[in-house]
Amino acid sequence: MVSVEDLLRHAEQLGVKLVEHPLPKGYCGFYLHPQRIICLDSGLSQRQYLCTLQHELIHAEFRDDGCSPTGKPELRARRETASRLIDLREYAACENEYSNDLFHIALELDVTKQVIEDYRELVLPKMIAQQHNFVNSR
Ligand SMILES: [Zn+2]
Repeated sequence: MVSVEDLLRHAEQLGVKLVEHPLPKGYCGFYLHPQRIICLDSGLSQRQYLCTLQHELIHAEFRDDGCSPTGKPELRARRETASRLIDLREYAACENEYSNDLFHIALELDVTKQVIEDYRELVLPKMIAQQHNFVNSR
């Protein structure tokens, strides 16, 4: 399980500075590339903070400049965030227990609902495809 401390250390290694500021509704955070600054909304819950920080750190890792909501860097950041914050075995156990109840799965795995949705839409299909290729190549 990734902790906020892990992420703060990672930010330091990347040479990224964190600032907190009240952001307009609907915005949790953003990354400014040339300045290497991550700005996070100051009103985030603990879970939102962890998920947003992980997401923005991935933009920083890939040196993504600007963030269009449908662009490739944004999808990559969402996919990477979900795959780093969620463990497949834990996810599978939760899905067994709560079936399609996103809210409870998110609560149990300590991430936001968005991250669970991204895990289902962006991470799992890729994993299944890879598994399939693996089986076919044997
Ligand atoms: Zn983003």
